[in-house]
Amino acid sequence: MDNEEMIKNYTAGIARRKISPPDIVCRNCHQKPVSYELHETRKRQMRFFLGDIVTVMVSFLLRWQCPLCNSTFTEL
Ligand SMILES: [Zn+2]
Repeated sequence: MDNEEMIKNYTAGIARRKISPPDIVCRNCHQKPVSYELHETRKRQMRFFLGDIVTVMVSFLLRWQCPLCNSTFTEL
């Protein structure tokens, strides 16, 4: 799967709300909640090389919120 296809699949998954919360320890409270809550989505332009050409695609960055300490973070 190339970068273009990965970004398209990722963006389509967000549009269909088929997204999984991260399975990580919170960086603020150092605990692992049962699940993070989706806080917001931000539109982001991504540039990458497609052969010799720089291609720009629009996708989304997800911001999650820890239900234990209410801190938010961006999933990159
Ligand atoms: Zn936390």
